[in-house]
Amino acid sequence: MTLTAHAHFDVIDPADESIISAVPDHGPADADHAVEAARSAAPAWRALSSRERSDVLLRAFDIMMSRRDELAALISRENGKARADALAEVTYAAEYFRWYAEEAVRVRGEHFDNPTGSTKVLVSHEPVGICVLVTPWNFPAAMATRKIGPALAVGCTAILKPAAETPLTALAIADILEEAGLPDGVLTVLTTRSAGPLVDRLLEHDDVRMLSFTGSTEVGRHLLERASRRVLRTAMELGGNAPFLVLGDTDVDAAVDGALLAKMRNGGQACTAANRFYVHDSIYDAFADALTERMRSLHVGPASDATVDVGPLVNAKSVSKVRELVEDAVQRGARVLTGGEAPDGPGFFYPPTVLADVPADARILHEEVFGPVAPLVRFSSEDEAVAAANATIYGLVSYLYTDDLRKGLAIAGRLESGMVALNRGLVSDPAAPFGGVKESGIGREGSTEGLHEYLETKYVATNW
Ligand code: NAP
Repeated sequence: MTLTAHAHFDVIDPADESIISAVPDHGPADADHAVEAARSAAPAWRALSSRERSDVLLRAFDIMMSRRDELAALISRENGKARADALAEVTYAAEYFRWYAEEAVRVRGEHFDNPTGSTKVLVSHEPVGICVLVTPWNFPAAMATRKIGPALAVGCTAILKPAAETPLTALAIADILEEAGLPDGVLTVLTTRSAGPLVDRLLEHDDVRMLSFTGSTEVGRHLLERASRRVLRTAMELGGNAPFLVLGDTDVDAAVDGALLAKMRNGGQACTAANRFYVHDSIYDAFADALTERMRSLHVGPASDATVDVGPLVNAKSVSKVRELVEDAVQRGARVLTGGEAPDGPGFFYPPTVLADVPADARILHEEVFGPVAPLVRFSSEDEAVAAANATIYGLVSYLYTDDLRKGLAIAGRLESGMVALNRGLVSDPAAPFGGVKESGIGREGSTEGLHEYLETKYVATNW
C-alpha cells in the first residue's frame, strides 16, 4: 500500500546527476496512517494459513524473476551499480521471498514433560506484531526482501522505510507483492527525505512491536536508544570493517579472484566489502601486483553501458569520504599502486584503487571506506594477522585464504565476526544466517534464524 503525500522529493541518477523521478515525502502524519493500516490488516493476515501466506511470497518470487531485467535496470538507475551487480541483486533479493515461502510452513513448537513430570510444557511461536523495517541504499532490493520475506511469512504486518537515495526499487517490490495477492495494508512503503522524524513517530506507536534496521552503526545506535523507550524487539544489521587475510601458503590467483569479489561487488559499497587486506610477507608482492593489474583493468562508467564493471558511488558525500580516507593513508606513507584520483563530474565516480604498505594508524584501516579502495598491509606471523583483524569495534565478516583447510578452520574460530568466508569472496546466501557480532549488529537475517526474529515464543504450562 502506498499513501498520498503533499510534497515530493527527487531521485537522482548517480551516473550523471540527472533527476529520474520524484516520490512522496512522507511525514509523521503518514506514519500514523501506515500504522493504522498495518493494525487493521493484521488480524486477517495472521489468520491465513501459513500455506496461503507462503503462496503470496512464492508468486512474488516468480514475478520478480520474470521482471529481472526491468528491476535490475531500475536498481542501476537509482543506485548506480553495474548491470551484472544489479542482475545478481535481483536474483539474491527474490530468493529471500522463495526461501521464506518455504520456511513459512515449517514453524514448529514443542511439547514435553518438565523434569519432575508434574507439568506439560507447551511452546508455540506467534508473530511479533507490527514491524518497522528501515533499509539502506546499497542493496535496495535485497535488504528489503530479507526483512519483508520473514515478517510476512510468519503473519506480521509491516511498514518499510527505504533509503532516500533508492525509494523506487522499494516501491516496485511493493507493487510486485500487491500483484502477487498481498492484501492492502499488510505492507506500506513510506518514502521520505526526513527519516528521523518519520521513524521516531513510527516507533512511538503502541501497536508497533519490532524494529528491523540495516544501515550504519551510528544510526543503529541512535535507533536502539529510541527503541529501548518502548522495549521493542530489535534486529540490527550494522556496519563492518571486514579484514581479508591471505596466508603464505595460499594460491595467489585464487586469493586475487576472491579479493576482487569481496572488494568490488557493488563498487565496494557493501557492508561485507573487504575493507583491509593483510597479506603474508612471502606472497605480498605477487598478490599486490596481480590485484593491481586486475583492478586497473576494470571498466568504470555508467551502468547503462553493459560492458561496465564498476558504476559510480551513490552520492557526492560518498566520493568525499573515499577521497578523504585515501588522502589520509597517503599522507601517512601509503603508496598508490593504481587509482587514487576522483575524476571531475558529472557523476559520482571513483576509480578502483590499490594502496600498498598502509600504516596501522591510517583511518582507512579503522573506518568503512564504502568504495573501490583496497588497502594492503604486510604481516609475517599468523598471530599478528589475527590480532590486527580483530582490532576493530566491528565484527560482521572476515575473509581468509589458505591452502591448509585445517589451519583455516582453526583461524576461522579465532576471528571475531559473525561470518567467515574461508577461501571464498562471498558469504551472502538466503539459506545461511547473516549477521555480525560486536558493533556490527544484533540478530541474524536469512536462514531459519531470520524467521525467528519475527516470532515471539509462547509457553503454556498445563496438566492434562
Ligand atoms: P544509514 O545512513 O545508517 O541509513 C540507513 C537507513 O536509515 C536509511 O533508510 C536512512 O534514511 C535511515 N536513517 C538515517 N538516519 C536515520 C534516523 N535518524 N532515524 C531513522 N532512520 C534513519 O546507512 P546507509 O548509508 O544508507 O548504508 C550504509 C551502511 O549500512 C554501512 O555502514 C553498511 O555497512 C551498512 N549495511 C549493513 C548491512 C548489514 O547487513 N550488516 C547491509 C547493508 C548495509 P535516509 O536514506 O533517508 O537517510
